[in-house]
Amino acid sequence: MFDKILIANRGEIACRVIDTCRRMGVTTVAVFSDADRAARHVQMADQAVHLGGPAPADSYLRGDAIIAAAMATGAQAIHPGYGFLSENPDFVDQVQAAGLVFIGPSGDAIRAMGLKDAAKALMEKAGVPVVPGYHGADQEADHLARMADEIGYPVLVKAVAGGGGKGMRRVDDPADFAQALDSARSEARTAFGNPDVLIEKYVLQPRHIEVQVFGDGKRAVHLFERDCSLQRRHQKVIEEAPAPGMTAEMRQAMGDAAVRAAEAIGYSGAGTIEFIVDGSDGLRPDRFWFMEMNTRLQVEHPVTEAITGIDLVEWQLRVASGEDLPARQQDLTINGHAFEARLYAEDVPAGFLPATGRLAHLGFPASARIETGVRQGDVISPWYDPMIAKVVTWGQTRAVALRSLESALVDTDVAGSVTNLDFLIALTRHDGFSAGQVDTGLIGRDLDALTAPGDDDGASVALAVIGLAGLADPDTQGGMTLWQPLRRTIAWDGGQAVLEVMGPGHARVTLDDRIHDVRWQGDRWWVDGDLCRQRIIHHDAGVSVFGRGTVHLKPVDPLDRAGADDGGDGLTRSPMPGLVKAIHVTQGQQVRAGDRLCVLEAMKMEHSLLASRDGTVAEVLAAQGDQVEAGAALIRLDEVPE
Ligand code: ADP
Ligand code: ADP
Ligand code: MG
Repeated sequence: MFDKILIANRGEIACRVIDTCRRMGVTTVAVFSDADRAARHVQMADQAVHLGGPAPADSYLRGDAIIAAAMATGAQAIHPGYGFLSENPDFVDQVQAAGLVFIGPSGDAIRAMGLKDAAKALMEKAGVPVVPGYHGADQEADHLARMADEIGYPVLVKAVAGGGGKGMRRVDDPADFAQALDSARSEARTAFGNPDVLIEKYVLQPRHIEVQVFGDGKRAVHLFERDCSLQRRHQKVIEEAPAPGMTAEMRQAMGDAAVRAAEAIGYSGAGTIEFIVDGSDGLRPDRFWFMEMNTRLQVEHPVTEAITGIDLVEWQLRVASGEDLPARQQDLTINGHAFEARLYAEDVPAGFLPATGRLAHLGFPASARIETGVRQGDVISPWYDPMIAKVVTWGQTRAVALRSLESALVDTDVAGSVTNLDFLIALTRHDGFSAGQVDTGLIGRDLDALTAPGDDDGASVALAVIGLAGLADPDTQGGMTLWQPLRRTIAWDGGQAVLEVMGPGHARVTLDDRIHDVRWQGDRWWVDGDLCRQRIIHHDAGVSVFGRGTVHLKPVDPLDRAGADDGGDGLTRSPMPGLVKAIHVTQGQQVRAGDRLCVLEAMKMEHSLLASRDGTVAEVLAAQGDQVEAGAALIRLDEVPE
């Protein structure tokens, strides 16, 4: 076993690798960018080396600096985590040329699976079923259109170099093919520097079921499947293992195919074979097809760990240090059911826009496994993936594990940034999902219901008002003046209420003409006669009430400049660093509030920036293809003449 390894990553995955290293007595070296000087992974590691500026290209993607850091600190091996350099075969070769061990597959194995077209051809040869379609070299538009006709609509145009759900277009009608091809190609060219595409049959009622494999370079085993069908725009939201409705026959067929795939490329280490499954008629062994292989540890690996009892990072270290595969196929079994939910800093009502902010309060329940790279007080910056945590639960049955996920999410408290927490909770309560009827279209079909604001009965706001008035603070609660009626206005950023203190432990809060009767005793609260399960939390950014939706009240800052979204200067600014994908207006054009002005691409997603009011475009300050900083002015509006 290694004495010391370097972890070439950040955030929750760096922390998770350090956890296992600590348990195994392996010393750890972290690396960090300027934005991560005080990050959790840096604090947890035994040693840490600074790489450079916050942009990944200046830090976590600098293979040479990372190898130099490993040499300088005496680390024997490098764990790449996921993302960043984890699937870069040239980096693997450089690590090995420096005499270090790469904890993962060979550069050649990564190359074999790097492009989806070549990988599909290879898998066909190995006898693994692949999605019917065209993955040849002829990229002529007419030829591709003919192939699409032959395959039969609907089809999926997919970037051969794709990842993260990018460069993919579903086409239902031949008339739309040419345009979809163009847009998939242009997205692929910007994102991956490779415009080539393949055409696939679009599987109806698709389920994403993937198999965890593990190889030692010659032989491989599989650690069963994960169902990742709960996706939004081809990105995973909640994952589970095993797959609901899985039969022994189907599991055997998928497991065998996955092992064949791994052995065909002499795979070493942890990998995932992703399959698309036609779920229109239950799970049937002749209805799954290879999509791609991810040659690394996967974000959702903890659900596999939860049902197998195996620490996959421990296996990675053992195999990379030269040990045999730690178990044989017949030793591996499934116990119970597990879920993982990805908690992100994102603005769901604004279209899942990645958010940033300082986490003024962060609380997790002890009932779940929490994988996180941040602590209370840390900043979710615009530089990296805005993930706050993965919440993982286990139960003897699917129903128990799902209920446990729901309550773990309800008991998760985040203040200081908007999050997708309410959306995740709504998903755990979705009837179809609860019944195990999953497919990749579920979220899209029910998006309105899943993102509808909860029925606000005002109780949480009333409690927050009590908090803001200082009455929920255990130190001042029994204060001298509280026995006498006291009437005052409590204002916060965005609203106000009238508070009347009726006596010790009793107040009335008037919110929009509704009067709420609030009583308390110790830390128990009643609003309008109902005992509340909400939690009132004071932090340095105001007061939050958690437990039934989330309410944050921020005290009014008299220095804050109130103004329209555009700051009153008519400028639409970039909310984050990103790439200008398209400009939809020209100078002199009249726009209405809500019209799309331009599209920005940042952090794996596209965001439309909308006009905050009616007006005329006075100036277009950015061009398609521009890389812009957060706050950069993009479009300026003039007032519409009266
Ligand atoms: P997965 O199927 O595992 O979710 P994706 O194809 O969506 O993978 O993304 C590729 C990997 O890169 C994921 O593991 C994702 O979390 C990781 N990743 C993407 N962006 C970043 C980032 N900025 N920092 C760290 N990891 C990232
Ligand atoms: P990426 O590299 O971006 O992860 P994948 O090929 O793994 O690309 O596909 C991402 C997602 O797109 C899948 O999880 C699935 O939801 C959907 N998808 C991919 N191929 C098909 C297909 N042929 N039919 C239907 N859905 C598909
Ligand atoms: Mg994929």
